[in-house]
Amino acid sequence: MPYLRISGIFLFSLLLTLLSSATDISIGLFYRYNIESMVFSMVEGEYLLSGDGNRIAVVRKGTMFHISCTDAGLVVHDTAHDYGTFNELEFKGISSNNIFQVKPVFPSLRPKESEGDLRLTMPQGRLRIVNTLNLEKYLPGTVESEGGANAHPEYYKAQAVIARTFALKNYHRHAHEGFNLCDDVHCQAYNGKSRFNKQIYKSTRLTEGEYLAGPDGKPVVTPYHASCGGITARASDVWNNDLPYLKPVKDPFCNHSAHLNWKKTISLAEWNAYLGKKGFIGNPAALYTVSDPGRRKHLDPETRKLTMTAIRNDFGLKSSWFYIKADAHEVSFYGHGYGHGLGLCQEGAMEMARMGYTYVDILMFYFSNLKLIKP
Ligand SMILES: [Zn+2]
Ligand SMILES: [Zn+2]
Repeated sequence: MPYLRISGIFLFSLLLTLLSSATDISIGLFYRYNIESMVFSMVEGEYLLSGDGNRIAVVRKGTMFHISCTDAGLVVHDTAHDYGTFNELEFKGISSNNIFQVKPVFPSLRPKESEGDLRLTMPQGRLRIVNTLNLEKYLPGTVESEGGANAHPEYYKAQAVIARTFALKNYHRHAHEGFNLCDDVHCQAYNGKSRFNKQIYKSTRLTEGEYLAGPDGKPVVTPYHASCGGITARASDVWNNDLPYLKPVKDPFCNHSAHLNWKKTISLAEWNAYLGKKGFIGNPAALYTVSDPGRRKHLDPETRKLTMTAIRNDFGLKSSWFYIKADAHEVSFYGHGYGHGLGLCQEGAMEMARMGYTYVDILMFYFSNLKLIKP
């Protein structure tokens, strides 16, 4: 029944695109940190503050609400009032455009501005800060956090499609913690509302609802990285399995990158100690002269021991694509690119945009077997 199958896919795609423009998304803010106290202030709009479901204050511009975690719960006050202790606090935006700021006080971190509502709870004694906002309003912030403030409009469109695809694909990633995505690189970085380049909003809006899909019309994993070093990675170079659309792409667009070639040197003694710790007995000479110019998954392909990614992480290397040379005293890693190398190469994509390629050209260059679903 091919007709029915096609309409099923069509309906599913339609549903997802409708979802993306109408859907809210909840982001766990300052996810990586254990925040003990913070200040909430309103930037724009109108907010009501509720504690355990009861309205306790109207938030006015210029008022700062101090919130701290105690054994008894969340204690909230401003300069004029102590509001009490609660299990849950909610700042709800009630005008059409609501923007707030959260400033962690202990530990002291850079504030984040965002739109929508904010809910604070304390599961297992630790503050959880959850920001709920429209998905399309969340995207410019993550596009700026992941793509910087000085890229070309077409590049921002490509990054917006990828960020939306990621959000739809991973919508339930943190469901067990009561939100959708975190604001850390574990999901995609969200430093708050985009602030440095208005073009990011425009580019995101021009791709509203669009995402990348496999043959079944569902959003797929669309990884990206800073710089591929000349050729992107195969899924199985980094992960356990292959994906038909994550195949090596020869990338001539990032060949001026500062990360195209890099080198790091350590002492031979450090390398010997490391290999010993990783279970290499007798230290075969091959582990000192990996001269294969291509990407490889394991340091020793024979025994499939020790992944290049593990070495990258352990020695803080820019990528897992490198070869090794040793002399009597030192071991040098000669590598290419920055990041895992899968999917879209950001430096290459930025150059394509500058050269006049459209965001569709860019996406299809790096993800050749995928479809761009438009509303
Ligand atoms: Zn996450
Ligand atoms: Zn590249």
